[in-house]
Formats: sequence, C-alpha cells, structure tokens
Amino acid sequence: MNPSLQAVRGMNDILPDEAAFWELFEDTIRSWLKSYGYRPIRMPIVEPTPLFKRAIGEVTDIVEKEMYSFIDGLNGEALTLRPEGTAGCVRAVIEHNLAARQTQRLYYIGQMFRHERPQKGRYRQFHQVGVESFGMVGPDIDAEMILMGARLWNDLGLDGIDLQLNSLGQPEERAQHRAALITYFEENAELLDEEAKRRLHTNPLRILDTKNPAMQDLCAAAPKLIDYLGAESLAHFEGVQRVLRDAGIPFKINPRLVRGLDYYNLTVFEWVTDKLGAQGTVCAGGRYDGLVEQLGGKPTPACGFAMGIERLIALIKDAGGEPAAPAPDVYLVHQGEAASRSAFLVAEGLRDQGVDVLLHCGGGGFKSQMKKADSSGAGFAVIIGDDEAATGEAQLKVLRGEGIEQRKLKVDDLAEAIIGQIIDSDEEE
Ligand code: ATP
Ligand code: MG
Repeated sequence: MNPSLQAVRGMNDILPDEAAFWELFEDTIRSWLKSYGYRPIRMPIVEPTPLFKRAIGEVTDIVEKEMYSFIDGLNGEALTLRPEGTAGCVRAVIEHNLAARQTQRLYYIGQMFRHERPQKGRYRQFHQVGVESFGMVGPDIDAEMILMGARLWNDLGLDGIDLQLNSLGQPEERAQHRAALITYFEENAELLDEEAKRRLHTNPLRILDTKNPAMQDLCAAAPKLIDYLGAESLAHFEGVQRVLRDAGIPFKINPRLVRGLDYYNLTVFEWVTDKLGAQGTVCAGGRYDGLVEQLGGKPTPACGFAMGIERLIALIKDAGGEPAAPAPDVYLVHQGEAASRSAFLVAEGLRDQGVDVLLHCGGGGFKSQMKKADSSGAGFAVIIGDDEAATGEAQLKVLRGEGIEQRKLKVDDLAEAIIGQIIDSDEEE
C-alpha cells in the first residue's frame, strides 16, 4: 500500500476481534458509572486552542509539545484536537450553565490526541473514560471517585493496580513551596537537565514530574509540598484518607505526585500497575476547584479523573479476559428466486422476535452457503429452497449443541422452535 495512504503513525485501527474487547469493556464501564449516578456528556473532538492553553497550562508537556493544533483554513480560527477531556467538559458546563443550581456527575468516553513518541501503552490517538463532578467541595466526592476505581478493577477482574495519593494544597501554599523549590534547585543548578533549567522559573513543580533517571535523587530530596500545607488543606487530605481506610482501600502517599496538568489542587491520585512496563498509570485525577472560574464560569468546586482505555484493555488481555465470540443465532441459507424473496421476510420476521440472523448475501450454491453457515458460529441454519418457499416452510438445522438435527417447519413456527431450543441448551449448561 502507498505509505501516504496508510494510517497516521501512532493512530491505530481497532479491528473486529479487538473491538469486541472494547465493547465488553464499555458495557462494564457504563453500568459501573450508572451505579454511581453518573450521566453521559459528549463534547466535540476539536476545541479552540486557547481553551487548552488556559486550562492545562502553557508550561506543560501537553501544551508545549504534544498538541495537534492547526489553523482552520476557512476562517483562520486556531483549533486543537483535544489532548484530554476535562477542558472541553468544563467549557460545556459553563456554556450551558449546567452547574448553576445543581451538582453534576458527568462522564465521557472517547478519543484524545497527543503528539508523543508511540510505544507500548502510548499512542498519538488514544481513548479515555473521563469522569467529572461539579459543585461538591469534598473530601467525600474525592474519596468516592477513588472508591469507584477500586470497584472497577474488581468488576474487570484486574488486580495489582496500586493507589498513589497526594495533596497539592491551595495556590497560596503552592506559591510558598514553589519559592522553596526554586531556591533548592538553584543551589543544585549543576544537577539540572536542560528541561529542568528551562522550567526552573516558569514551572518548577513540574520538574518533580521528570522521567529522567539522572534527576531522581535530586527530586526525591527536594522540599515537599505537604510540609507547606495549612490546617484546612491537611484536614481535606485527612478526610479523603479516612474514607479510604474505612473502605479498606490500601494507598501510598507519594509526595512527588504532581500530575502533568496545571489545574489541580488539593487531592491528586493515580492508579498504577507494574504490568505494563514504563506506561504504568492506568487512571489519574484529582480536584480542580479553580478551573471553572479560570475558564470564565462562576467559582465551582470540581473533581475528576481519566482512565487510559488502551492500557486497561492490555491488562484485561494479560489477565486472560476473553469476550464471548459474537455469533448470530441463525445463518439463513437460500437458493432460487422465490426462496431469496422469502428469505428476506423470514429474516425480518425472526429479528422481530429477538432472534439474531445473518442472512446469506452474494449468491452461491447450498454447499458453499452451508460452509459459511458453519464457520459463522451460528447455532442454527435456516434453509429455504424454492420448494420450501412455495409452501411457506423452511428447514431448521442444528449446527451446534443438542436437538433434532434437521426438520421442516412452517416459517411462522421457526422463532418459537429456535428460542425454545436456545433456552433448553442454556439450562443444560
Ligand atoms: P503519562 O505520565 O503516562 O504520560 P499523563 O499524566 O500524561 O500520563 P493523563 O493526562 O493524566 O496522563 O491521562 C490519563 C490517562 O490517560 C493516563 O493515566 C494514561 O492511562 C492515559 N494516557 C495518557 N496519555 C496516553 C497516550 N499517549 N497513549 C495512551 N494512553 C495515554
Ligand atoms: Mg503524558
């Protein structure tokens, strides 16, 4: 294939076998979210570029080097493919006044885009489940969001996902810590890498988020934000931990957990596994009380998290999770002109009664159609020739499981026979 016509690097097709995992995952996700009272919201994939700069922060990996930004050639607008969902969700909440008189619990599932180096668990188009709440000051909602994660890993049959927790305090507290950090890093200037030097005066907290192994010791010994938190911030943090302890959810406080986005305050958390190599964070989030106001809304406390679907699906596969092979109940075989006309009506009639039908299309003889029926995985073949069509009948052949192997039935009796037999064989299992 001409390379210029192939998929963009780091943006993957999800083929049917793989997509079956995704659908199963999404079913689990939706019922899990419903059980916590979350409602869906769907935002555009493209948003104005200034929205992300404002929300995520100018001096962050995402805004500095990962965004797919472009100018709309038709009207000159600066646009960006969303690199995350919170900014767009907050924009929508403000624009439609969703949080004015009530609290909101919202979720979305969809594509995100970041220009990163593609590798296992890291892609340029990837998918997130995003969960956001508005109007609740916490720490109860923060804690509930963390409990949600624990329940989901259980629902998905995953273990070995560990919880890391930190508090980023409030902006004033961070300012004091920031000053101390700058002093500390200035005193150790010879140990800083290029990126750290560049960020020293713009966003020193982000230096702690470095993935450079040579900087780990330096960062581990840096002044800790927790030592700068006031009584209220500490009480909030303690409140979150109390719920987790009551619920028996183990956690580790990681003072270096700062998150790659600027909008967080107070609670931040990550769920991390060591089963995915370097890309171990499957879920991350926290509180972002300042963001709604920062984007032009009325001050509204908020909290949220996002999960990377690719990483979770990889874990599910690792754990041996297998979606049920999607097979139709019936493969409908037909040959002859009258038979083909009847086949459409029979297929629609069966579907009316809840039977899944794969209608053979594309012609061919009985023998080749029966082969396709077999490999389709269907439980039954319904076979119509011109003889059957003339008398309003069809042959019902059992392809899988027990039962009378083949018999002729009135087409009106097909559905009942099929459903009856499906129920019988379910009971035997
Ligand atoms: P990382 O440290 O792995 O780059 P991040 O802090 O940039 O993650 P967030 O912005 O918090 O990630 O996004 C939430 C989740 O989305 C991550 O924990 C991860 O599971 C997933 N994720 C982020 N970037 C990618 C990517 N490029 N490809 C696949 N999944 C991703
Ligand atoms: Mg990242």
